[in-house]
Amino acid sequence: VTKEDSRNDFKMFNASISENFRTMLTMETELRRALKENQFEIHYQPQKNIDSNEVIGMEALLRWNHPIKGYIPPGTFIPLAEKTGLIIDIGHWVLKHACVQNKKWQMEGHPPIVVGVNLSAKQFHQKNLVEQVHTILKETGLDAEYLELEITESMAMSNEEFILKTLQGLRELGVQVSIDDFGTGYSSMKYLSRFPVSKLKIDKVFITENKKQNQAIVKSIIHMSHSLNMKVIAEGVETEEQLAFLKKEKCDEMQGFFYSKPLPPKQIPGIFSDRMVN
Ligand code: C2E
Ligand code: MG
Ligand code: MG
Ligand code: MG
Repeated sequence: VTKEDSRNDFKMFNASISENFRTMLTMETELRRALKENQFEIHYQPQKNIDSNEVIGMEALLRWNHPIKGYIPPGTFIPLAEKTGLIIDIGHWVLKHACVQNKKWQMEGHPPIVVGVNLSAKQFHQKNLVEQVHTILKETGLDAEYLELEITESMAMSNEEFILKTLQGLRELGVQVSIDDFGTGYSSMKYLSRFPVSKLKIDKVFITENKKQNQAIVKSIIHMSHSLNMKVIAEGVETEEQLAFLKKEKCDEMQGFFYSKPLPPKQIPGIFSDRMVN
């Protein structure tokens, strides 16, 4: 074994343990740059009232349009953004731009709809979140009733008093709060009845797979929401059969590829005119 060989061995070992770390560092640097260089975009997925068939909302979904890699889905970079804390700035950007966009649609004369924005755990747990939302609404001129914030069950579970205060603050502003991916986290019925939440979003896993057990779960969530005076929306609706089932069970709203994928803002005016035809 020459000196050169062992040096190479060491290099290889070093390279393999640090590869993941380096990929992460690269991505973190790139994420920072993405924010500065406007590489983020928001796509909007329409939501319909099942009874009237009208479009009543749009969920804002973040996309990273990387200069070389193209569109990167949020599942790939949001976890890292959350870990590094970058999600605070990115999340603020999404919130602001979704409100600007919704106000713009209203100014253009489209019928008013609610824009739904996903909040990350770190973002939701900020002490001044209510203040931030208030400022954004003032700056953009969007009425609070046209903003909905999506949180997940696990985010609502920790530090009950703090969460309750935040949720009450948001309610006082007039903003709506929904629970995303409902049924996949740890929910406590006690919190659910105490927290001022306006809507449950049934997770797509229960919708996609047409199993008897899933249908039973979906039915229960719908009935529970209504008993607690909440609305309920099904995510991930892909087929006519799924929609027919939801309609029969009196689910209020739907979102999913069956009606529309998330779309870039320039394609949204077509959705608004579709709303009038249907
Ligand atoms: P989510 O909030 O549950 O959003 C719904 C996801 O389901 C979206 O994936 C959407 O494209 C997808 N989807 C909608 N309809 C269907 C369908 O019929 N079939 C199937 N298979 N999928 C459907 P997307 O855009 O990849 O987002 C994934 C997740 O990333 C979101 O799940 C949300 O948790 C997170 N995310 C997206 N944008 C943001 C953001 O601005 N901030 C934060 N914190 N998280 C975000
Ligand atoms: Mg969501
Ligand atoms: Mg979500
Ligand atoms: Mg969801």
